[in-house]
Amino acid sequence: MRILLTEEGKAFQVKDQDVHTQFGVIKKAAITKAKLGSTVTSNTGKAFVVSELTFLDAFRKIKRGPQIIPLKDVGAIIAETGMNKDSKILDAGSGSGALACFLGHLVKSVISYEIRDDFAEIAEGNVKKLGLKNVTIKKKDVYKGITGKNLDVIILDLAEPWNAIPHAHTALKPGGFLVNYSPTTPQVADFVNNLEGFAHLKTIELIEREWEVSGRKVRPKSQGIGHSGFLTFCRRI
Ligand code: SAH
Repeated sequence: MRILLTEEGKAFQVKDQDVHTQFGVIKKAAITKAKLGSTVTSNTGKAFVVSELTFLDAFRKIKRGPQIIPLKDVGAIIAETGMNKDSKILDAGSGSGALACFLGHLVKSVISYEIRDDFAEIAEGNVKKLGLKNVTIKKKDVYKGITGKNLDVIILDLAEPWNAIPHAHTALKPGGFLVNYSPTTPQVADFVNNLEGFAHLKTIELIEREWEVSGRKVRPKSQGIGHSGFLTFCRRI
């Protein structure tokens, strides 16, 4: 699969047809003939570099149902738990499956629980679209239990995460990580105050402030992501 990149860094996915962009139309025939790294031109004269589609390009186009977790928070989850190609992960709820898919691209396996049929369907569609064979969406209530043992990491992104703490304890390996992602402070308090059998490592909020760099006009952009959620990292003891 290919994408067309502009000098501004905009990426347009190539399907089996002409590509329509805000910079004009690029003919399918021109793209098919072009070598990777060469330039094709739209009917308005805009240049595009033909490149290979990466996982991240495809990930950015996944279908959205419930609010997905932002990349800044995904990055912290990966770094703070040290998950890797051998890790077995459980994620709940799936929502749009964004977190499950991103992690699936990096780790051994991801099982993701979702109680709503419509969201499970969106998440499953995204797993398929991204071609991830190691990500399984299960129609299951995580408050009722977690099947599986010796998991490396469990991530919770749902309204009442404290209900899943005892199940997470049973399913995680000793020293395994439990991560909670909640948008509000009462959720953080109720989660941390109910931690039994876990060490609370830390609770953080990541603020990303993007800067505009245009010649010597270098200043924070006036708009950006506001608050997303608090991340709480714990370890099974
Ligand atoms: N992290 C996800 C978004 C999760 S949104 C992403 O990046 O795409 C939260 C989801 O949790 C919702 O879809 C909701 O239906 C689901 N949910 C709520 N309670 C649940 C439960 N007890 N078990 C499983 N899923 C649950």
